[in-house]
Parts: sequence; structure tokens; C-alpha cells
Amino acid sequence: MSHKRVVIVGGGVTGLRSAIALDDFGIESTIIEKKSEVGGRVVGYSKIFPDFRDGRKIVDDLAGAVSSSSRIGIIKETTIDHVQKKDVNYTITLSNGSVIVADAVVLTCGFETFDATRQGEYGYGVYPNIITSVELEDFLNPHGSTKGKLLRPFDGNPAKRIAIIFCVGSRNKRIGNPYCSRICCSYSTKQAIEIKELDEESSVTCFYMDIRTYGRGFEEMYQYAQDIGVKYIRGRVSECSTLLNGDIQVRAENTLLGRPVQGIFDLVSLSVGMMPCADAGKMSELFGIRRGSDGFFIAEDEDFNPHSTDTQGVFIAGSVTGLKPIRDCLLDGASVAGKVASYLKKLDNK
Ligand code: SF4
Repeated sequence: MSHKRVVIVGGGVTGLRSAIALDDFGIESTIIEKKSEVGGRVVGYSKIFPDFRDGRKIVDDLAGAVSSSSRIGIIKETTIDHVQKKDVNYTITLSNGSVIVADAVVLTCGFETFDATRQGEYGYGVYPNIITSVELEDFLNPHGSTKGKLLRPFDGNPAKRIAIIFCVGSRNKRIGNPYCSRICCSYSTKQAIEIKELDEESSVTCFYMDIRTYGRGFEEMYQYAQDIGVKYIRGRVSECSTLLNGDIQVRAENTLLGRPVQGIFDLVSLSVGMMPCADAGKMSELFGIRRGSDGFFIAEDEDFNPHSTDTQGVFIAGSVTGLKPIRDCLLDGASVAGKVASYLKKLDNK
């Protein structure tokens, strides 16, 4: 194959894995990452589901493989300003003023989490002891802001009674997100297990609509959570309010028993769903990629060509096409590289 270069937009785990797999094919790539560090959100996950591996270690391993290859370059703290297609090449102008010519482009720009203030009934941003699952993840991380301790933001006291509310920002037509975010049942269950393993005396109550722990090992994780005492209540929470001492009162309808329930908690975590990445609109315009009504990218053929787009030479992988567990993102990163390699080979043969 003649000399070819691929530009990968996004240095999360999907982008890193794509670059490594392209390297295996002998193809050069340049990762464009807007932040100062690669690895995306996985860097901040001390444990990932379903096997509780260390997210930081996954990123370090990927980043180590990337840095040891002479065929992979990374440009950090940079975004894409302008794209011009000429024949089969893309001339890409970066925010740092430099220009790079690519034979193919892989978009792996990830996702954003739902802004919980948009669902006012939960009191996020108003009551200190109501946090999001992103903040809970940070609290549970030994390298996070509380060094792995679960403390009430209101007064710094240990949190012993924890509620987790599922489906915040997902499966909700009113806020414009009717879709299921797919991974929050599993990551929330993982967090519930972590809380119990941190302090077996603590109580963890999960308010859920349905449990969707669909992947290999996920259902077993859910069973384990129940075995160690995590409580699951099927019901939609109608309101969270605060007491003078900072405790949070949660009111819900138990839809299995058909009666209202309520409880008092030290800390309430909102399991926020996921949205398309902030750059999705811009990338869609720059590269001519279709987006679904949910805002995520649409492939040329979701079943047979999930990495190809309507634009020749532009490929998509990871959470840009909808939410995936980390292991699926890694798989996506490897498989998109195969698709890109075969595309570049066909270009050579023309
Ligand atoms: Fe709700 Fe679970 Fe779907 Fe997330 S994965 S939106 S918590 S049903």
C-alpha cells in the first residue's frame, strides 16, 4: 500500500484503539484530541463494569502502545476548524493553524452526559447532597476529590444511606431524550456494589424503571448487587426535597406494589444518561454525516456497514453512533481500522 495517513478525531479509548489497530496494518495515523490528556472519560473510572478493571490502567496501556509506535502521532488541545475535500483526500485545518492532509478520517469524539439541572424535580444544583453519577464516580475513585471516601457535600459527614435514581435524562420524551442510554443500569449497579464494598453497613437503594443489564456478565453483576444487599425499587421518583440537616427525602411510586414510597437519604446520586458529543453538530456539518433524531451519527448501513458513512473516506466508531460499554468501544476501535484498511487498499488498486 502506498503511503497513507488517517486522521482520528478524538483521543478517547476508541480513538487510541483505532490508531493501534491501524498501526498493525502498517498505516500511519494522527489523533486530534481537544483536551490536554488522552483517554477521555475512562481516565477517571477507577473501576469499570462488569469486571471492575481499572480504567486508568486501560488508558495507560493504550497510551503506552500509541507512544511506542512511530506511525502514530497525537496533537493535543486542538480541534478541527475547517475541512476541504479534494478528490479522495481531506485537507484539514486545525485550530492551532496547522494543516494536515488525510486519506481517511475516523470520528471517535465520544459523548456528553446529560445536564441534570434540566430535570428540576430532582433538585440537582439546589440541594448539595444530590449529586450526579459522574460526581459519585469521582467520590468512589481513590484518586478522586474525596480520595475514595463517600462524604455528604452538605457537611462533610460520611454518607451511609445512599439512593441512586436511574434513567435521569433518558427515556423521557418531555426533555427530548426518549431513548435508553443503555449503560446507566450497569454503571449504576457497579457503583452500588462499590458503595457496599466500601462500607457493608451502608444502605443503597436504587429507584429504577426497568433493569437493562444486557451484556455478558452484566446480569450476574446485578444479581451480585442484590446478593450483597443493594435494594432495587421499581418506581419513578416524583420529587426530591431537602430537610434542614441536609438529608434528602425521596418520594416515588412503587410501580410493582402500586403504592407510594418515600425514604430519607444522606446522598442521592442521579444516574445521568448520555447525549451526543458537543462537537457532533459541527462534525456533522464539516464531514457531511447524517444524525438521527437522537443526535448521534448514522452509519451508511447500521447492520452491514456500521463504520462507513455517506461520505467517502469518513468513518465512525465508538459512542458517536450511540452509547456503548467500554469493551464495545474498544472492539469498535479495532473493527473500524479493518474497514479503513480495506478502503485504503481499494484506493491503491484504482
Ligand atoms: Fe434507564 Fe437503565 Fe436505560 Fe439507563 S440503561 S436509560 S438507567 S433503563
